[in-house]
Amino acid sequence: MSTLAEPGPAQTRQSDVKVKAYGAFAADQPLEPLDIDRRAAGPRDVEIEIAFCGVCHSDLHTVRSEWEGTLYPCVPGHEIVGHVTAVGSAAGKFKVGDTVGVGCLVDSCRTCSACEEGLEQYCTGGFTGTYNGSTQDPPGHTLGGYSQRITVDEDFVLRISHPPEQLAAVAPLLCAGITTYSPLRHWNAGSGKKVGIVGIGGLGHMGVKLAHAMGAHTVAFTTSESKREDALRLGADEVIVSRDAEEMAAHAETFDFIIDTIAASHDLDTFTQLLKRDGTLCLVGAPEHPHPSPGVGGLIFRRRSIAGSLIGGLAETQEMLDFCAENEIVSDVEIIPAQAIEEAYERMVRSDVKYRFVIDIASLGGADQAS
Ligand code: NAP
Ligand code: ZN
Ligand code: ZN
Repeated sequence: MSTLAEPGPAQTRQSDVKVKAYGAFAADQPLEPLDIDRRAAGPRDVEIEIAFCGVCHSDLHTVRSEWEGTLYPCVPGHEIVGHVTAVGSAAGKFKVGDTVGVGCLVDSCRTCSACEEGLEQYCTGGFTGTYNGSTQDPPGHTLGGYSQRITVDEDFVLRISHPPEQLAAVAPLLCAGITTYSPLRHWNAGSGKKVGIVGIGGLGHMGVKLAHAMGAHTVAFTTSESKREDALRLGADEVIVSRDAEEMAAHAETFDFIIDTIAASHDLDTFTQLLKRDGTLCLVGAPEHPHPSPGVGGLIFRRRSIAGSLIGGLAETQEMLDFCAENEIVSDVEIIPAQAIEEAYERMVRSDVKYRFVIDIASLGGADQAS
């Protein structure tokens, strides 16, 4: 718990610290305990003791190599909240003890036009993901938040101002929250707009809360009849069970904007037909297999768009966290020990999540030790 001196040449760099983590050694292997190395804080770094880490469907896609290109060992987790335990000599944004978060990004090129506009998620030089990204730290790729500690450049650390007892429920804002907040803002969701949120999982339940808080007429689409009451409680003005063709037809050509969070391949026409002229269907779900090609007629004859959106930049993520603190918005979470992660993944695949699993990092066990 100290401010670290600026390190000298690489060979005298302070020792990496060994910490406990949970990860997988291959796509077909379950997650298991492992020890990983974290770098000591460099001049611009912040060292964070992780308290909680949310479980995103992207963690599952990655650790099981559903998107290909996964590097092993893979330690997922990009919904990280915790406390600062040390700061580098040239880092001035945070102090020891601050409550902070880390989302999906830990670095970017910082010079391309996207980075200059604060849109680091669209960095053309290639951003560094919180896990499975390129790094000089061992083992050569980044390792995520299913671990006791992480060291991150202060420019990629977020400030958390929610009450301390809400910390676990804040974690999912770092991915699920920003991934829905950013498109809602970009497409001007708000009063007078009819906005649909498809799939009431981790992303979707945040989308419902945020669209409602922005003042939009919010409609939740779910395949799970059992989520109907919950969706209303989360803030939906209406709920549509998307398997019910009649219920869907009653809303044809009425939506300004729809966010689709479904984590599996499906027919997009079902949702484009619900858009008004000039309406947009924004895809954020990133399934393993492609969607069937959408019909062009439904787009051409109503000048409708199908778009996509990726998480959010640092400034917008901070804006979202502050918006949520002001509006008393957190995620609905089920806190689990790391040892229950495989069961949580199985439930996520079955859409049986209410509405985000969050790992209590204390479950990883005793104090870490220097290597
Ligand atoms: P999640 O918690 O598993 O929720 C997905 C929801 O989609 C399910 O709860 C279910 O909701 C619905 N669903 C799942 N399978 C379906 C199917 N076959 N047909 C219809 N509906 C289905 O997942 P998540 O963490 O919210 O992530 C959702 C997707 O977004 C994942 O692909 C993830 O990788 C991706 N993602 C993208 C970004 C980005 O920046 N674009 C960021 C984070 C995550 P109902 O029970 O209500 O039907
Ligand atoms: Zn995520
Ligand atoms: Zn860049």
